[in-house]
Amino acid sequence: MSRVAVTEEYGESSPAQEGPVVLSGVRKRFGAVAGVVVLALTASGCGGLGSDLGGEGEKIAIGIKFDQPGLGQRTADGYTGFDVDVATYVAKKLGYSADDIVWTEAPSAQRENLIKSGDVKFVVATYSINEKRLKEVDFAGPYFLTHQDLLVRGDEVSITKVEDLNSRKLCSVTGSTSAQNVKEKLAPKAGLQQLGGYSECLKGLEEKKVDALTTDAAILAGYASQQQHWGKFKLVGLSLSDENYGIGLKKGDTELKGKINKALGEMVADGTWRKLVRKHFSLSSYQSEPPPAIPS
Ligand code: GLU
Repeated sequence: MSRVAVTEEYGESSPAQEGPVVLSGVRKRFGAVAGVVVLALTASGCGGLGSDLGGEGEKIAIGIKFDQPGLGQRTADGYTGFDVDVATYVAKKLGYSADDIVWTEAPSAQRENLIKSGDVKFVVATYSINEKRLKEVDFAGPYFLTHQDLLVRGDEVSITKVEDLNSRKLCSVTGSTSAQNVKEKLAPKAGLQQLGGYSECLKGLEEKKVDALTTDAAILAGYASQQQHWGKFKLVGLSLSDENYGIGLKKGDTELKGKINKALGEMVADGTWRKLVRKHFSLSSYQSEPPPAIPS
């Protein structure tokens, strides 16, 4: 696999989300960090984050993942990943600068709650659109399509298909479609352990506490391509589901949904979507699907 550092940037970028490009293995600094912990703002009496769109200096809380390289990751220098850049682009179209964004961790099992409570305005966190979630929240998009796959240790030879998991230990994340798919249809007899985040599963895989980690291929490719993991893990290469990522928002907020869909449409039309895919997935060699048709 060739590992060429991707240095391509795009016009909507800001220091807040451009920390080191972790997938490249090249540390690249872009300046000051603007990420703020949501608690600090709440404690200082600055409530109702993102309740109005686009006011001068108004803050907007956005839910992302903090531990998924290539998608949403907190680093010493800020926040980086495809979802982070998509969120920044959308926020800008809504009238918020990168400095106005309060990045908030949105673990898989917390996403609906964070939206319903109003702690975040929207969630851009490898968040698949499905019927169950649509009962609680609405989604703009989809803006990205990936598929569920398996990650195993580099020397694993006995897991080549999903049926092989029925006698093995498997890790996924609570509240994810990945765990749900395993339990309901893919491998109901597998010894499934559900943890709070995929990085915890990865540790279990490395320490041989589990035999495989399952979630979306785009996420797994990000872990496998981190420099410290080179050669340690491999994707099995299965396409076990369709995972259409949407931007989660409060149920019934059709105005916000329309504005976000418009922004996503522009992101594809102006070439930013493709640039971001190249920027964040080239190094993991993840072969992205073409952009999904975004509803207008
Ligand atoms: N995309 C899947 C989901 O929304 C798996 C990844 C995740 O847990 O964020 O559940």
